[in-house]
Amino acid sequence: MNKNLNIEELVAADTAHHFHPFTDHKSFHAGGGARVITHAKGVYIWDGKGNKMLDAMAGLWCVNVGYGRKELAEAAYQQMLDLPFYNTFFKTTTVPATLLAEKVASLLPERFNQVFFVNSGSEANDTMVRFMRRYWEIKGQPERMHFIARRRAYHGSTCISASLGGMSAMHSQGGLPLPGFHHVQEPDWFQCGGDMSPEEFGLKAAKEVEDKILELGPEKVAAFVGEPIQGAGGVLVPPSTYWPEIQKICGKYGIPIVADEVICGFGRAGKWFGHQTMGFEPDVVIMAKGLSSGYQPIGAVAISDKLIGEFFEKGGEFFHGYTYSGHPVACAVALENLRIIEDEDMVGNAARMEAVVKEKIGALADHPIVGEVRVKGLIGAIELVKNKNTRERFDDWGRVGTICRDHCFANNLVMRACWDTMVFSPPLCITEAEIDEWAKLARIALDKTWADVKHEAE
Ligand SMILES: *Cc1c(COP(=O)(O)O)cnc(C)c1O
Repeated sequence: MNKNLNIEELVAADTAHHFHPFTDHKSFHAGGGARVITHAKGVYIWDGKGNKMLDAMAGLWCVNVGYGRKELAEAAYQQMLDLPFYNTFFKTTTVPATLLAEKVASLLPERFNQVFFVNSGSEANDTMVRFMRRYWEIKGQPERMHFIARRRAYHGSTCISASLGGMSAMHSQGGLPLPGFHHVQEPDWFQCGGDMSPEEFGLKAAKEVEDKILELGPEKVAAFVGEPIQGAGGVLVPPSTYWPEIQKICGKYGIPIVADEVICGFGRAGKWFGHQTMGFEPDVVIMAKGLSSGYQPIGAVAISDKLIGEFFEKGGEFFHGYTYSGHPVACAVALENLRIIEDEDMVGNAARMEAVVKEKIGALADHPIVGEVRVKGLIGAIELVKNKNTRERFDDWGRVGTICRDHCFANNLVMRACWDTMVFSPPLCITEAEIDEWAKLARIALDKTWADVKHEAE
């Protein structure tokens, strides 16, 4: 870091020249500009004013091994010296791209042996859509163009991946979703389950998938796509009945299942992959984020033997790829990242820490503003409500979450608000002592939020 850096000048330059993603620009330019994050170590980040914050989001759900791992910097440095770039088009490859494909295939269930590299989760989903449509053309069923996904799903921000996602705010701009993308009930019992038990509601949400298949015609459906646990939608952990029923329904109509494991993959939910935690068997797996712990931009699409066989045999050239598909530096860093996750048993740590988070963050469920705390591995949510017993929300859904998030930030804790759901996804290296500290900071933020809005609940 440049020691002479003047943070005020930097913030002014940022506001003047940096067009930020997912930002309300009017309020951004009216307010104090961006918070500058300067360095990080383990589960902590530091800002330009010297505040040390506990990052219970692992960046954007991605820094699985935690910050400041020298081995990853060294892997990038060495690879840049050896070979900073070469492409993987036209029958060429590089050492790290090959080794990473082999490694990812070895971590996935046996039926996965082919891995396509991209630079992000969005590109992974775009690649999957192009692959599935091409697959059905090769099978002689080109009318199978339609994808079924869930409302409030997040699959990325390109035109295709935002169409596949079910975020109504994203669909409200620029003519999205594109044709061919359909959305059904998200398995969110807390918000949508009413008087049903979670198990009944899980079956009802799955039934909507079957209804949509029948409405479109099973012969027109390319795939069903879902995050094992919806992340940006508010960490929606589906009821236990949901995924097994989806598996049954998709099996009945011969519709492939795509698991978007961009968040759940690489240990987040307590096993290597979220579909293993949730108990279903996808045909395609989408990966990014934890694949490199965010140290380099990289994503991947793994395709099962069943789909790839005919594709290779009869498909000719697949006219798809990115200049940086299988980028050697990103692949070298991802390989070293997977070595760390494996050697330090971070997947096991996520599974063990689940109990600690359930105990310590779960204890916040006694707070008057908290309707539910749910946890799977090291991902979870705290629901903010006006009435604990009825699960009634405050009016203007999302306002109270923003208040709480700001109290967290002011108090050196990073948690994110998805409407009035506080979500968390800390680095997988987090310790019991750090979880203790996090729970204390979270309670302070909840107390302050409650003090702000209590009068509305009376
Ligand atoms: C973040 C995310 C994406 C998009 O990944 P980018 O790298 O931001 O393009 C896709 N799917 C899920 C489930 C995500 O959480």
